Amino acid sequence: MTAQIKPDFDVIAVGAGFAGLYLLHRLRGLGFSAKVLESADDVGGTWYWNRYPGARCDIQSIDYSYSFDPELETEWQWSERYATQPEILRYLEHVAHKHDLRRDIQFSTRVEVAKWDADASLWHIRSEAGEEFSCRFYVMASGCLSQPKAPEIEGTDRFHGEVYYTSSWPHEGVDFSGKRVAVIGTGSSGIQSIPLIAEQAQALTVFQRTANYSIPAHNGPMPTEKLAQLEGDRALYREAARWSRAGVPIEPNEEGAMQVSAEERQRRYEAMWGAGELLGIAGAFSDLLVDPVSNETLCEFVRDKIRATVQDQATAELLCPRGHFIGTKRPCLDSNYYQTYNLPHVRLVDLREHPISSITEQGIDTSDETFEFDAIVYATGFDAMTGAIVAVDIVGRDDLSLADKWANGPQTYLGLMTVGFPNFFTITGPGSPSVLSNMTVSIEQHVEWIGDCLSYLSSNGLDVIEPTETAEAGWLQHVNDCADITLYPRADSWYMGANVPGKPRVFLPYVGGVDTYRGACDEVVSRDYLGFRLQGPGKQQCNDGVVRRIQPDVALVLEFIDSLALPPMESLSVDDARAFSIAMAAERPAGPEIGEIIDKVLPGPVGELCYRLYRPDTPGPHPIVAYFHGGGWVLGGADSDDPFCRDLCAQSDSIVVSINYRHAPEDKFPAAPNDGFAAVQWIADNAGMLGGIPGQLAVAGWSAGANIAAVVCQMARDGGGPGIVGQLLLNPVTDCDLTRQSYIDNADGFVLTTALMQWFWDHYADSADRVDPRASPLRASDLSNLPPALVVTSEFDPLCDEGIAYAEAMSNAGVSVRHISARGQIHTSLTAVGVVLSGAPVRKEMGAALLEFFGTAPPSEL
Ligand SMILES: Cc1cc2nc3c(=O)[nH]c(=O)nc-3n(C[C@H](O)[C@H](O)[C@H](O)COP(=O)(O)OP(=O)(O)OC[C@H]3O[C@@H](n4cnc5c(N)ncnc54)[C@H](O)[C@@H]3O)c2cc1C
Repeated sequence: MTAQIKPDFDVIAVGAGFAGLYLLHRLRGLGFSAKVLESADDVGGTWYWNRYPGARCDIQSIDYSYSFDPELETEWQWSERYATQPEILRYLEHVAHKHDLRRDIQFSTRVEVAKWDADASLWHIRSEAGEEFSCRFYVMASGCLSQPKAPEIEGTDRFHGEVYYTSSWPHEGVDFSGKRVAVIGTGSSGIQSIPLIAEQAQALTVFQRTANYSIPAHNGPMPTEKLAQLEGDRALYREAARWSRAGVPIEPNEEGAMQVSAEERQRRYEAMWGAGELLGIAGAFSDLLVDPVSNETLCEFVRDKIRATVQDQATAELLCPRGHFIGTKRPCLDSNYYQTYNLPHVRLVDLREHPISSITEQGIDTSDETFEFDAIVYATGFDAMTGAIVAVDIVGRDDLSLADKWANGPQTYLGLMTVGFPNFFTITGPGSPSVLSNMTVSIEQHVEWIGDCLSYLSSNGLDVIEPTETAEAGWLQHVNDCADITLYPRADSWYMGANVPGKPRVFLPYVGGVDTYRGACDEVVSRDYLGFRLQGPGKQQCNDGVVRRIQPDVALVLEFIDSLALPPMESLSVDDARAFSIAMAAERPAGPEIGEIIDKVLPGPVGELCYRLYRPDTPGPHPIVAYFHGGGWVLGGADSDDPFCRDLCAQSDSIVVSINYRHAPEDKFPAAPNDGFAAVQWIADNAGMLGGIPGQLAVAGWSAGANIAAVVCQMARDGGGPGIVGQLLLNPVTDCDLTRQSYIDNADGFVLTTALMQWFWDHYADSADRVDPRASPLRASDLSNLPPALVVTSEFDPLCDEGIAYAEAMSNAGVSVRHISARGQIHTSLTAVGVVLSGAPVRKEMGAALLEFFGTAPPSEL
């Protein structure tokens, strides 16, 4: 049913902060009637409520401002690099005044209930005072950090002195002169306010549960260089911000922290410390938020700074953050925070050692001490990202409550909408970059997307929009995929909901970057609102689907390759293709350290074959894996698969012998399988000499190498040995038929193309030979009695279907087969050790499968 009844407003939005103000302005400009409901008695949102001493932005003011109004940009001058709360509030008041926004904002109005009326296709909104409104579209512009978290401390109502919350500070300010003050909490608000409270108070005691990483803001006048950059070309600067990773135009650093010397690392960290930029922390190196070893170097740098600043070393150690990686909880920018602890009247109490047992009439009792105070300041943070949204009783289709739907964690499509709640939008909602970005940029992007969406609906005679379950589930998966390759989920942070008892532990924001996110939102629109169901009187449209299916790190690799604008490999000569693949291999991370690597030769059927042996650093003897590299029988060698072989060796605690079989076109089929079989026989015969355990021999291979591994198993079965305990086939070539669906679906754009596969076959085998089971093992008349197998296929690989077909055919023939379908991976990504981190779980499973073949691990549950 679609709308016939006219509601009070086209749009009702909750909240008059940065988001609600711009939304109102934008919607008016597009011709919609809009109303904003706000519980405060004026505009400002965050900057209305958080008036504590020291409150400032921690993204530079130049960046932390609107870009939609060019006139505003030039008429407003920020007085400082990091503006104070009063200045930011004045700015928002100025915007409200300039665009006459207050006339459509109803203040002192807390929204309590919002209910979807499916018959009339509109929302009914009810305020705390019982006032009712109706609207076609309902937007929560209610803020990510606007729902204060109540302190979980016994006896908070008993204290007879003054009580303050940083999140709702008195408008008239507070004078702490001559007072004994307690501050509970050392997050951003605590860290900003403590130095200023200390300046006034007679005595200040800070109660800290978790020490936080903070770097000095070096606040001061507007930096002239940055100002010149902005003023040089404002439009360009703002556009660069929109397409940056975090909403501020900063050149990303491509180098990992461990790729440079210790001296160079120290130099860069000193520069970061001196720059006073929050985003500069993670920007010092490319891998700080993904690699624990790299991250720890920065953690220790900051700890050293704390030790050098705080004179009392016991206090310094308490202030040194431990147990979480820097950046995985929101780090802070401060002005004299650590120095404050050198003041004689400031004391730090570590709540992990001395927990608060109760707030009392006079002060605070910890497990072993009684404190008396005149004032207590709670800087205890927020129920972030979802708190303000679910505080309203939002009821969608079929009486579904949003709080119930999100009980195990929020589910959204693009952080903008959620299934079951038609015409309901969130600005900077969970699943969008929001708190991991410069929020003004993210807010503007959401507002503009919503405005464009409503315009599209209205100009197409549509009036109801809702995401599909497929799209929402796909986005949630993508959000989690992005988070899972970072260190973020390892921290007990408010990003994870971990600061609120009972809140489900899920990573709330989208960590894939503002640029990537904007690209996804734009793509959704350009693909006819992909993943949304749109309805209007007598019409419907839905292009269902998932906008991001490739793993995020694989997508980055593909983007990088695209940026090189290389000629297709199949257009090169064999020599050039080989030279190119060698050059690419030289650029990769080396792979894990292992015990020993030896290059030697073994006797092949027509001459010596090179092999490279990888030995674990654990005491031997070890099982042996005979490994065949990829490269379409034409390219590759020991070097090409070196990082992957190291990884296999480390994961499976086995010797890996990588055999360099003869290549086509110089030596066409059946040279490669003949070499492979001879090498495996030799390895079996010489296991003891190699440091292996006789009889503990598996084969493995990737791509064309997996083709050889599969064929060798058939040859060993038919030739009376040697005994092979298992076969690991990663993205195997199993058949010469290039018409399977995966060749069509993944024909182009995922490194291994259908055309390239054709090129490999053309070099490798004459047409008549290709159907030989030693070239196309899937065509063997008998697939029984083969060693147990693990077949791994990648979702975006032309070879995917033939890998699955081989797994099924072996299984049907009674072979014990396990198949892993690697979601979001391409043909080349699972071997990209140290580059494609999302492949790590699959690589681990491959190692575990080898252990299982050797009987050294418990059987898999899968
Ligand atoms: C101290 C502090 C410093 C920050 N510094 C930065 C920074 O430097 N850079 C940055 O990018 N971000 C910063 N943030 C995040 C900041 O919240 C956003 O940048 C931005 O101000 C959010 O704007 P908003 O309009 O989305 O939400 P808010 O500013 O939070 O506004 C939401 C409004 O909705 C109202 N509201 C909520 N629920 C209801 C309801 N049920 N009924 C009626 N009204 C309701 C609230 O009263 C509030 O006024 C900071 C946050 C805090 C707390």
